[in-house]
Amino acid sequence: MRPKLVVGNWKMNGSRAGNATLVAGLLAGLDGANASCAVCVPAPYLPQCEQLLAGTPVAWGAQDVSQHASGAYTGEVSAAMLADFSCRYVIVGHSERRAYHGESSELVAHKAKAALEAGLTPIVCVGETLDQREAGQTASVVGSQLAAVLELLDDAQVEKIVVAYEPVWAIGTGRNATPEMAQEVHAQLRMQLKERSVQAGASVAILYGGSMKPDNAKELMAQPDIDGGLVGGAALKAADFLAILHAA
Ligand code: PGA
Repeated sequence: MRPKLVVGNWKMNGSRAGNATLVAGLLAGLDGANASCAVCVPAPYLPQCEQLLAGTPVAWGAQDVSQHASGAYTGEVSAAMLADFSCRYVIVGHSERRAYHGESSELVAHKAKAALEAGLTPIVCVGETLDQREAGQTASVVGSQLAAVLELLDDAQVEKIVVAYEPVWAIGTGRNATPEMAQEVHAQLRMQLKERSVQAGASVAILYGGSMKPDNAKELMAQPDIDGGLVGGAALKAADFLAILHAA
């Protein structure tokens, strides 16, 4: 049995005051949760999260990372900098980065590698657009997104990643994949991991993301290959995030 993991992706939301309220709300409601949890926050708020969350069961992380170690890369944040603020996780290859910043699967793979080399766990996002799903390309799209990452990493690194399946058409739309639709893709991703490394196939967590809410989380996470959630909108309200965490 793989342990469940629920990660909040705050995206470009928050303020010092708002974060303090949200985090206090989370910390007040953790009792009885079976799953691990984390929040991935905008980079400027990492010191605040470190201060508020150190020594609690809630881990923290970032939403993107540079593939480079250091140097003349204006605006970038390195994996070592994230590690300096005790991040455990970093999201790489979110569909918003792929769509608005032109990130290729090869770049995402390099970001995952940079994260691992700094001791962080990359949460590697994959997912198809609505057009791709309707054209019957879901399996090939997510398969090639994951393949680029598997190609660059060694076996020991592959065993340390987290994968998140986030169908683009389900993100922020209120239209989640059905548990059966998601399970089908998760099973495919697990098979792909297993073909690479039996250990990775058994132990890598595959999260579902895309309009996960308190009322659909339990059914989604009851699927055999859905090991938790990557939660956007519902992670901005402590009560909703906690309800999802307790459904895991
Ligand atoms: P959502 O976002 O839960 O608001 O759909 C999920 C994500 O993009 O990680």
